[in-house]
Amino acid sequence: MKGEKILNDGLMNIFEAHGINRRDFLKYCAATAALFGLSEFEFSSKLAYALESGSKKPSVMWLEGLACAGCTISLTQSLHPPVSSIILDKISLRQHDTIMAAAGHMVEEIHDQTVKEGGYILIVEGAIPSADDRFCEIGGRPFRKIVEEAARKSKAVLAVGACGAFGGIPRATPSKGISVTESLKKAKIDKPVINISTCPVHTDHLVGTILYVLVTGNIPELDSNGRPAMYFGDSRLIHDNCRRRAHFDAGEFLNDWNDPRQKDWCLLQKGCKGPMSHSDCSIRRWNDGINFCIDCGGVCQACGEPSFYEHVTPLYTVESESSKKIMAMKKAGMFTKEES
Ligand code: SF4
Ligand code: SF4
Repeated sequence: MKGEKILNDGLMNIFEAHGINRRDFLKYCAATAALFGLSEFEFSSKLAYALESGSKKPSVMWLEGLACAGCTISLTQSLHPPVSSIILDKISLRQHDTIMAAAGHMVEEIHDQTVKEGGYILIVEGAIPSADDRFCEIGGRPFRKIVEEAARKSKAVLAVGACGAFGGIPRATPSKGISVTESLKKAKIDKPVINISTCPVHTDHLVGTILYVLVTGNIPELDSNGRPAMYFGDSRLIHDNCRRRAHFDAGEFLNDWNDPRQKDWCLLQKGCKGPMSHSDCSIRRWNDGINFCIDCGGVCQACGEPSFYEHVTPLYTVESESSKKIMAMKKAGMFTKEES
């Protein structure tokens, strides 16, 4: 295989020490390259270069505001371990308050030094309070100001999870959490933000986007909500790739969880928002491809959409604004097989 030539022993030794063989690495490259629209050779050589150019090891700064740290857990989930965790090792994760060993003044020093140097990828997990700065302060400083300052000096800003991307659950609380995009806009900071939504962020979406910026030096193509089109976008409707879809088309809707006959039927009447939810969950799945919400009997809550959380609750009935819209669209015949 062509890609093997560009991997030197040094890099492969690191992967092998973590139980990842050459074949697995190249398989990973092939899958990611296809998403980026690059050839496997082009991707793996650029990736190898990016990972091996020690002095240019890209800095990443991770800040957390109004959030539950679920995206951090998603970042650290490591099953085999996946290739992604090694790639994250090779990135210089300069600051991540939850997982770094340092604390207090030491973190503030690292933070100030990183901002001074600039040129890092800034990742923001969580929303930013708009009601009052005191809802989120770090080291006595408003989180809002910390993000503004860090964004100004960054190479790219990634807003992760439903909260960072669109305000998420904090938007529905007294803090009136807003997205990173809205917050920077209010401060008149003209920095493009890549929204990597879902609750929590999907590790593949996060690592893939960091790699895209790293390997190509550009921002990936974004959909109308600022999300990477390769993972979200019009062609990534959960409903179109759902394995319960045949039951939707046949008009078979689960309404009794205790009826074994209905086990695989469509969950629309239990509040599923798959018909308005854009993400590749139903193809990519979660936890290393093991499962995803709908296949394990939960509804899609549209956690990647700007409408999450305020407009999708209550989750398991059709009372939410989102479900009412979906029902109206269904009544208007918008989900017949030919038209969807
Ligand atoms: S409504 Fe939900 S469960 Fe039913 S087919 Fe669509 S995505 Fe699947
Ligand atoms: S299936 Fe729906 S609720 Fe589940 S993670 Fe994907 S977008 Fe979120």
